[in-house]
Amino acid sequence: MPDEKKPERRKIAATDTMKKIMADYFYEMDGAAKTGSAKIAWCTSVGPAELLRAMGFLVHFPENHGAMLGATRMATDLIPHANAVGYSPDICSYLTSDVGAYIKGVTPLSKAYPGIESVPKPDVLVFNTNQCRDVQDWFDWYARELNVPIVGVHTHRGVGDVTDAHIDSVARQMENLVPTLEEVSGNKFDFTRLQETVAESLETSRLWKKVLDTASTVPSPLTFFDGTIHMGPAVVLRGTKTANEYYRLLLAELEGRVRDGVAAVNGEAHRLYWEGMPIWGKLRDLSMLFASLKTCVVASTYCNSWIFEAFDPEDPFRSMARAYTELFIVRSDASKEEYIKRMCGFFKVDGIFYHDAKTCPSNSNSRYRMPQRLREALGIPFVTVNGDLNDLRCYSEEQARTQIEAFVEGIAEK
Ligand code: SF4
Repeated sequence: MPDEKKPERRKIAATDTMKKIMADYFYEMDGAAKTGSAKIAWCTSVGPAELLRAMGFLVHFPENHGAMLGATRMATDLIPHANAVGYSPDICSYLTSDVGAYIKGVTPLSKAYPGIESVPKPDVLVFNTNQCRDVQDWFDWYARELNVPIVGVHTHRGVGDVTDAHIDSVARQMENLVPTLEEVSGNKFDFTRLQETVAESLETSRLWKKVLDTASTVPSPLTFFDGTIHMGPAVVLRGTKTANEYYRLLLAELEGRVRDGVAAVNGEAHRLYWEGMPIWGKLRDLSMLFASLKTCVVASTYCNSWIFEAFDPEDPFRSMARAYTELFIVRSDASKEEYIKRMCGFFKVDGIFYHDAKTCPSNSNSRYRMPQRLREALGIPFVTVNGDLNDLRCYSEEQARTQIEAFVEGIAEK
């Protein structure tokens, strides 16, 4: 049974700095969209953001907006508006909530950042299908609605070993984006600037990895739930000095916790791995529930997906192609299982939590017997909870609570 005392959530002091840099990011883009002082590119979250930044664009990430719609619980009411124009309730609920928000003319940015009335209008839309096909359909909606150019990269899926053929194809596609980006931005492509941006992005990745790796300490100074908040700069500001300064600050704080033996979850007794999408509208509740069970969700595939160690400033196009193809979501089940095995060993976990997200099959790895195979290989138990990233109609709080409590009880008995 959970501890009846209200669990303590230990606040990370760097959070205030993160909130400020995220606010600066949104206000800068809003200002540019209103005055035309800079061009705006929309980019998928694991798309070629470095190229866009190097070309002088400010970059908006619709998936980040989708996550905000989920976290603020606006999504569930907005999804039906996208359904009404023909997008199925079964497809990506980032897509449907974001399109629903556009149709209704609302955004969580207005409440969080007074003065911002809408997401910044794009000058160009740039996708990468490395994660799923939905992102292209999503951007296609805006291309038609706003009459904006759309370009993209079509990536291989289900990749086992990443070969030169994969890299050649993706790198070539990225190079082919340049003429359109030059035309839209009015800037000539500058190879040195791309090298600099890739170097900064590599640094962002290294720092973000070090932050997440602190959770291998027992007790862990960090939870998955903290990670979903603090990953913001790694997603929307990677490749900038601002992101890197922030992660140095956060890392110093977490290393201090490690030195002092400070646990993110008081009395940490169990450690779990989270596989799958966050349930954005329930993160706070879930973090409290796990804390009450003295269980720290120490690591996840999701937060680690913004680590791109393959970036190489000496060979920016090919290394971007490699980094965005080596990603977990792009890979075969066998490669994914090897990755999860390494993660579970490194983070010393007692069990795996799978989130089967109804509208995101690409990020739900519990459907083809992977949990059973990993249980056999690792000898640790798993639980699969049905839910969704944004559509809370697919999530039963009661059922999830019962499953989680029983799962942790089983681990404790073992
Ligand atoms: S990976 Fe899943 S959540 Fe992300 S855009 Fe694709 S379908 Fe949506």
